[in-house]
Amino acid sequence: MTWEERWHPLREEWVVVAAHRQHRPWSGETLERVPAELPVYLPDCYLCPGNLRVGGKRNEEYQAVFVFDNDLPCVGLDAPADLEATTGIYRNRPASGLARVVCYTPRHNAALAELETSEIENLLRVWQQQYNELGSRQEVNHVLMFENKGEAVGVSNPHPHGQIYATNFVFKTIETEARVSRQHWQETGRVLFQDILDAEREDGRRIICENETAIAFMPYFARYAYEVYVAPKRTVPHIAALSADELRDFAAILKSVLVRFDNLWQMPFPYVMPLHQAPTDGGDYRSFHFHIEFHPPLRQPNLLKYLAGPEIGGGNFLSDTAPEEKAAELRAQSEVHYKQRRTTNGE
Ligand SMILES: [Zn+2]
Ligand SMILES: [Zn+2]
Repeated sequence: MTWEERWHPLREEWVVVAAHRQHRPWSGETLERVPAELPVYLPDCYLCPGNLRVGGKRNEEYQAVFVFDNDLPCVGLDAPADLEATTGIYRNRPASGLARVVCYTPRHNAALAELETSEIENLLRVWQQQYNELGSRQEVNHVLMFENKGEAVGVSNPHPHGQIYATNFVFKTIETEARVSRQHWQETGRVLFQDILDAEREDGRRIICENETAIAFMPYFARYAYEVYVAPKRTVPHIAALSADELRDFAAILKSVLVRFDNLWQMPFPYVMPLHQAPTDGGDYRSFHFHIEFHPPLRQPNLLKYLAGPEIGGGNFLSDTAPEEKAAELRAQSEVHYKQRRTTNGE
């Protein structure tokens, strides 16, 4: 039984771990499992190769990763510049920036978890290029790359894809991580994320998997039941700074985590997956340690983590599960995807 508050050093906030109450009876909403077998190509999918998108552009007949400018961008270079005047202390400005979509594969029915490690490695290379290209633009101060996966997080099209928001502002979570990392560096001479890795190694119970240069773990201060961080062992501020060897290792660990997620309940595992990378506003980010975070919304196969009073109302998370137990569940999973096992067994 774990019942305590844990400090989240990257967000500077307390997480209430109340795992003693996790067997509370539940009689509310549940999510249906995804049953349908999807086709490899869907004529009316706006992400499949060769298909027409909203706005009339046509996708290339792409073979691997395909990047295009979002047809309905939330930030854009042509966002209105002539804005309504504000009153009092209120401020506004153009929603400038670039929004892109990254299709991971032409195969409509695949998922990141089901791609070959070499395909994931190729995707990581595309992310490197995008970070360099977008981050080098004068008007871009931050490049946020992420994937929303599953209907539980509002994604209706299962075609495997992620998004990129290159913005004139630095997203709040990154701003906080950068600030506390710099502060820790100035006060102790150490990288905050390295101290987190040291603490995880010393305890050991929350490490999911690792290889020579990359590691996956459920942080001590996890806010979600199955929150996992994937990180290189060497401190680099962004993905583009990883060497070819580090990129290959990182792809392998990322793949291992994704497969474990899907294997957990033998179903496509929904998540929000942001890449946390240093801002591109010209600041000094030597103390920033690139990592990927998984924020899965499910606590059980059909049970969502609801954000309510503590999270939305107060801004701090309340977790019903102990990270040590959940990490053990993930560690126990096979590294072979359950769909692949079925094929191999001829089922
Ligand atoms: Zn598709
Ligand atoms: Zn982070």
